[in-house]
Amino acid sequence: MKKYRLETRCIQSGYQPQEGQPRVLPIYQSTTFKYDSAEKVGALFDLQAEGDFYTRLGNPTLSAVEQKIAELEGGAGALLTSSGQAASFYAVFNICQAGDHMISSSSIYGGTYNLFQKTLREMGVEITFVDPNASDDVLQAAFQPNTRLVFAESLANPTLVVLDIERFARLAHANHVPLIVDNTFPTPVNCQPIAFGADIVVHSTTKYMDGHATSVGGVIVDSGRFDWSQGHYPELTEPDASYHGIVYTQQFGSAAYIAKARTHLMRDLGAVASPFNAFLLNLGLETLFLRVERHCRNAEKVAAFLEQDHRISWVNYPALKQNRYHGLVQKYMPDGTCGVISFGLKGGRDTAVRFMEALKLAAIVIHVADARTSVLHPASTTHRQMNDAELAAAGISPDLIRFSVGIEHIDDILDDLRQALEASQS
Ligand SMILES: *Cc1c(COP(=O)(O)O)cnc(C)c1O
Repeated sequence: MKKYRLETRCIQSGYQPQEGQPRVLPIYQSTTFKYDSAEKVGALFDLQAEGDFYTRLGNPTLSAVEQKIAELEGGAGALLTSSGQAASFYAVFNICQAGDHMISSSSIYGGTYNLFQKTLREMGVEITFVDPNASDDVLQAAFQPNTRLVFAESLANPTLVVLDIERFARLAHANHVPLIVDNTFPTPVNCQPIAFGADIVVHSTTKYMDGHATSVGGVIVDSGRFDWSQGHYPELTEPDASYHGIVYTQQFGSAAYIAKARTHLMRDLGAVASPFNAFLLNLGLETLFLRVERHCRNAEKVAAFLEQDHRISWVNYPALKQNRYHGLVQKYMPDGTCGVISFGLKGGRDTAVRFMEALKLAAIVIHVADARTSVLHPASTTHRQMNDAELAAAGISPDLIRFSVGIEHIDDILDDLRQALEASQS
C-alpha cells in the first residue's frame, strides 16, 4: 500500500477484505488457531512455515495493525507490545544484553530513563547518557568497543527537545550500530525518522496513535535497512539453539531484527497486545492525521497566548519562532510538532499548584497526548524518582508544567487558561 499517501494509509493499510468479508478489521479474540496436522503445527513452531498458532506470537488483528504502522513509518515490519515500556525494552534488549553497552540521549521519557538507568543496568547492560545537543566529538567519545545501539526521542517527553536525527544516525552508523528513535510525540504524521536514517522506531501507542486514552500499548518498527553483519550482533547472525539453529539474518533477511523480537523476546517475555486493544488502536490510527493536525494548530495558539501573558515566566514549544529548536523543526517536522507545551508560572510551586487546581476543562491526569486537554507537573509525578541533578540533566525544571492541548474548541481551552491564571494569583 506504499503508493498511497499517508492519510490514505492511516485508513486503508493493513487490512484488505476479500469478497464477502467484514469491511472493518475484525477482532480475532482467540488465543489459538486450528490446524489439521501435527506436522504443520511443528513447522510453524520451527519458523519453517508462516501462520498464526498462538496469539502471543501472532494474531490476525494484531498483524493488520502492525502492517499499518509499518507502512506509516516506512518500515519493513512491526511488532505490537502491551505498552510503550515493553516496546522500548524489547527494542533495546533484542540486540544489547549483559556485558554490552548502549548510548541514550538524556532527554527521554521518565519511564524510559528508569528502565535504562535501573533495570537494564541491573541486567548487566552498561549505559552512557549523552546530552543530545553535545558536539559530535563529545558524542563520539561515548562510543565503546561493546556499544550496540544509540537511543533517543525525536521530540522528547516532556522537555520537547528536538533530535537532530540525521546527525545521530550518522554517528551511530560510523560506529556500526543502529539508531533507535522513540517517535511517540510527533507520530509518523509529523515526523518520519526512518527517512532521516533511523533504523528502528518505537512508540507508546498509548498517546496520539490511540488518541482517546483507551489502551496502553506500544510498537516497534524495523526499517529493515541496518546491516547486522557489519557490527557485532551474534544473536542475529549466528545460529539460535532455541530454534534448531536458525540464523535470523538468513531466515528473515531484512526483517531479521523484528522477527527475532517476536520469535525470541515475545515468546519468552510475553508482553503481548490484546486483540481488543489492537482494534481500538486501529480506530485511533484511522483519524490520526486529522487529530494530530488539530492538536498542533490548537497548541500553537495556546503557546502564543501563554507567551504574551505577564504571569508566565517561560514557554517551551518547539514550533515557536524563537524556540532553540525552530531550525530542527523546519527540517524534521515542518507540518507541526505535537500538542504538548511546557511552561513555567511566575511565583513558583504554590502558584503552579493553584493554577492547575483551578483549571476546569483541563484535567490533572498522568497522561498526555489524547483528545482531552490535560495538565501535569512532572517533578512531582512522572519524574519524581529523579533527584534535582538528574532532573536538571533531563532538562526539567521544578516549576515545569506540562500542558497537553486537546482537540476541543480553541476558545474553550483559552478561556479555561485565562480563568485559571486569574485564580492562581489570589
Ligand atoms: C508514555 C511514553 C512511553 C511509555 O509508554 P507506556 O505506553 O506508558 O508504557 C515511552 N516513551 C514516550 C515518549 C512516552 O511518552
